[in-house]
Amino acid sequence: MSEMERTLAIIKPDAIARRIAGEILSIIEQNGFRIRAMRMLRLDRAGAEGFYAVHRGKPFFPELVEFMTEGPIIVLALEREDAIKKWREVMGATNPANAAEGTIRKRFGESIQRNCVHGSDAPETARFELGYFFRELDLV
Ligand code: GDP
Repeated sequence: MSEMERTLAIIKPDAIARRIAGEILSIIEQNGFRIRAMRMLRLDRAGAEGFYAVHRGKPFFPELVEFMTEGPIIVLALEREDAIKKWREVMGATNPANAAEGTIRKRFGESIQRNCVHGSDAPETARFELGYFFRELDLV
């Protein structure tokens, strides 16, 4: 049996603006994740740049920061067995055009940038990203 694990999920500004946050939360629950913490906030420029620091210098970085600051986001700490890998499966590939049928990005994503959701890609990243938004005490 695999280990319980936590990952950081984000419902991005495009999804909030289009009022599909509730639907995405349902999908999260239907896929067996426990929501251990959840918060709505709006990132400022420094906040978005810090979160996506690994992408600094890439051609899409300024556009990505612009997008992630255009409106509120919902950040979530999700828990289940194999949470990191499983949440990335449920999200689908970064580019909705390449995402598998039934995934969130296939169903709702508008472009490689406006793809509705974020998920940590490895245990190290998950630790950094969970800590970026939550203190240990916030995790229930
Ligand atoms: P993820 O882990 O699947 O979210 O993908 P990445 O870590 O590679 O990229 C982070 C985010 O940057 C993506 O979810 C997109 O919102 C955006 N992004 C990635 N690649 C591109 C790109 O080629 N063009 C644009 N405009 N945005 C991108």
